[in-house]
Order: sequence, then C-alpha cells, then structure tokens
Amino acid sequence: MKIVLDPGHSGPVEPGACAGGVRECDVVLAIARLLAEQLEEQGYEVLLTRSGDIATDDLAFRAELANVHQADLFISIHANSVANPAARGTEVYHFPGSEQGRRLASLIQRRLVAELNTADRGVKEANFQVLRETQCPAVLVEVAFVSHEQDRQLLTAYAGQLGAAIAISTAITQYAGR
Ligand SMILES: [Zn+2]
Repeated sequence: MKIVLDPGHSGPVEPGACAGGVRECDVVLAIARLLAEQLEEQGYEVLLTRSGDIATDDLAFRAELANVHQADLFISIHANSVANPAARGTEVYHFPGSEQGRRLASLIQRRLVAELNTADRGVKEANFQVLRETQCPAVLVEVAFVSHEQDRQLLTAYAGQLGAAIAISTAITQYAGR
C-alpha cells in the first residue's frame, strides 16, 4: 500500500497558523516525519509532499503527487487556529460523500482523541482542494489547536508528536484491515 503524507503549508512563504511562537508548518512536518517512520516500519510505501520548507504557496502539486504515483491513501496533516483561545481539540475532514474517506477519518479521529486526550470535535466534511483533487481516499487531519495553550504544548512536545504519529498509523493499519 502506497501512502502520501502531506505536511500542510510550506515554511516562511506560507507558514499556516502561528501562535505562541509556534508555526503550523513546523509541527505538522515533525508529526509527518514520525508518521512516515511508523508506516515504513510496518511495510507501507510512504511519499511526503515536502520534507522541509518549500518556497511555494501552491496547493495543486500535493494532490498531483498522489495521483501521479497512484497512491492508495492521502493524509494531509494540519494544526488548527482560531481567534478564540479557548477553542481546542481534534477534527478530521473527508470529502463530502466519500465513504472510504469517512471511514478512514473516523478511525483516525477516534485514535487521536484516545491517544492525545484532546477534545473530540468530530469527523467533518469539506470541499478542500487537497481532498477534492486526490483520486484516492483522502483525509485532512487537524491534530490540535496551535492557538490553545495546552494543545500547543502537545503539538510541540516530542511525546505529543509521536503520540499523534502512532495514533494515525494505528488507524491506517485498522483501515487497511491488518
Ligand atoms: Zn493548516
């Protein structure tokens, strides 16, 4: 099984959410790298859409990479942010109407909340470009909020990043039925 991992955003050009000195692009890359290790250990073939900072804010290449390589799954990894500092927790998105996307999103949501003890914001549908343009089942994971103090600690601590990676990889293994 071939899995494309997509650490959201790109670096200085487009860092994503920023709060408390933390950039979304950095924490999601750290989680994606750990997740790649977990999945490779289990025999999955893994491709990353980026392995460091990249100088673009373009989104199209992300789904394109999955399509060109005929990936079986596409996992985009993000961290959330809102103006309200009390907002917290985990949510996972799939493309509207995608049954496989919903199933994978539900498994990842359940595992992440159990592993990280984050607030359960549920599985949601969204017409995001990376979900719409990928030909394989695709999900977008919002691990936690960089704008919430405790969530931010989870996202920046090695233990939290590893916990997120283990949770997602366990869910993928469940999804794949082995
Ligand atoms: Zn993001």
